[in-house]
Amino acid sequence: MPLLIQNGRVITATDDYQADIYCAGETITRIEPSIDAKSLPPGTEVVDATGQFVFPGFIDPHVHIYLPFMGTFAADDYASASRAALAGGTTTLIEMICPGPADQPWDAFELWRSKAQGLAAVDYTFHMSVVRFEPGVRDQFRKIVGAGVASFKVFLAYKGALNLTDEDLFATMKLARELGVIVTAHCENADAIDALQKALLAAGNTGPEWHGPSRPPAVEADGVHHLCTFAELLGTHVYTVHTSCDEAVRAALAARYRGVNVWIESVIPHFVLDETCAERPNFEGAKYVMSPPLRAKRNQEVLWNGVKSRAISTIATDHAPFSFRGQKDMGKDGFTRIPNGIPSIQERVDLVHTHGVAAERVTLNTMVDACSTQAARLFGLYPRKGAIQVGSDADLVVYDPAFRSTFTKAGSHSNVDYNAYEGWDRVGRARVVTVRGAIQARDGKFVGTIGRGRFLEREPTH
Ligand SMILES: [Zn+2]
Repeated sequence: MPLLIQNGRVITATDDYQADIYCAGETITRIEPSIDAKSLPPGTEVVDATGQFVFPGFIDPHVHIYLPFMGTFAADDYASASRAALAGGTTTLIEMICPGPADQPWDAFELWRSKAQGLAAVDYTFHMSVVRFEPGVRDQFRKIVGAGVASFKVFLAYKGALNLTDEDLFATMKLARELGVIVTAHCENADAIDALQKALLAAGNTGPEWHGPSRPPAVEADGVHHLCTFAELLGTHVYTVHTSCDEAVRAALAARYRGVNVWIESVIPHFVLDETCAERPNFEGAKYVMSPPLRAKRNQEVLWNGVKSRAISTIATDHAPFSFRGQKDMGKDGFTRIPNGIPSIQERVDLVHTHGVAAERVTLNTMVDACSTQAARLFGLYPRKGAIQVGSDADLVVYDPAFRSTFTKAGSHSNVDYNAYEGWDRVGRARVVTVRGAIQARDGKFVGTIGRGRFLEREPTH
C-alpha cells in the first residue's frame, strides 16, 4: 500500500526540514514541501506527523540473536528480537555470526542465515566472526564475502574459546585488506583477563562485582592498541566494537592520529549504566555483566563527548539477551560463568533521545548519525539505509519527542525476564515505524509481518 507521511519534521544526519514523504512500493519516491493526499492513488495510507520527527530507520550494527554462549543459548529468536527492535525504532540489524572453533565458517553462515529467514521482520545482515584461520578454511571466508557479508569480527578476548593467535589475527587482517572488508573487533587482552580471573577466583572473589576488576580499562586499551598496530602494518580498516572507556577511546584516537583507519563503536549500556550496577546485592549484579564491563561513571561523559565530536562513530547495543533466572544464575558460584550481555535492542534509541538529546548532550542530527547513518556508511548499506532520499528504502520512524513514560519489562518484547532500565524515565517514542514502505510497529506495538525481513547483501567498501 502506498504511504504518505505528512507534516513531519525530517531529521537526517545532516538536515532538518519540514516536508511530506511519499513511498510507492518499498522506496521513497517523493520528498516535497507539501504533497496533496487527494492527488495520490486510492488506498494510500496517510500518517499525520504534525509535531513529530521523521527519522531514517535506525540501524543497530552490533546484536546477538542466535548465540550459543557459555553452555546456553541467547533467549531471543528473530521474531522476538524484530518486535523489540521495531517497537524501539530500529529497522535494520547487523548480527554477529559467532561459530565455535570446531565449526566450519560456511556452515555457520548458513546456520545463522537460516535462523533469520522466515522469522525476521526487520532487514538484516551479518558480521562474520573469524575464530580460526588455518589455510583449509580461508576460501570459505572469500565465499562468505562473495555471498554479501562484507565485514569480519575478531575476538582478542575469550582465551581458549574465541580469540585468535597473533599469527591468525595477522593473516585474517591481511585477507580482509585484500578483499576490502572491514574488521570489527572485540578488543581486550585475553591472557591478561585469564590471569586476573584465576587470581580473583582463587582468592574467593566469585560474585558478579568481580567481573569488572577482572577486565580493567588497561586491558581494553591494550587490545585496541594491538588491533590498531596490525591495522597500521597492513592497511586494514578496523572498527572497535563496544569501546567502553576513556583509555580505550584514547588508544583508538592515537592510532587514528597516526593514520590508522579505525572507527569507534560504543554501546548504549556504557553511556547510561556504571560499574556500581554489578555490585547490586543478591546476585542482581549479574544482570549487568557484559564485556567490556560497565565502567566508572566518569567514562559516560567521555563517550557522550566522543559522539558529539563524532570521534565515536556509532552507538550500538551489543544486545545479548540472557535471562536472570536459569541463565545468568549459571554463574552463581563464579562470575566467569555468568553469560555476558545487557539486552537493549528496544531501548537504545529512546535512551539516546532521553539521555543524549533531551539532556542536551548531543543534537538530533548527531543522534541520527550515530544510531543510523554511520553504520550504513561503514558497512556498505548507504544510501539504501541510513538516509531519507528519493530511492532509499522507505525505512522511516515517526517519532514523538513529547511522549513521556518509563522503561519496563512489561513493555518490552525481548524474551528475557528483566529490563536493565526498569522504572527509568523515558522521553520520546517511535509512533510509526516502517520497513520498506510497510508499517511494522505503532506506539510500541508490533503490527507488521513476521518473516518479511530481508537479508541485505553488501559489497566490500573498504
Ligand atoms: Zn557482541
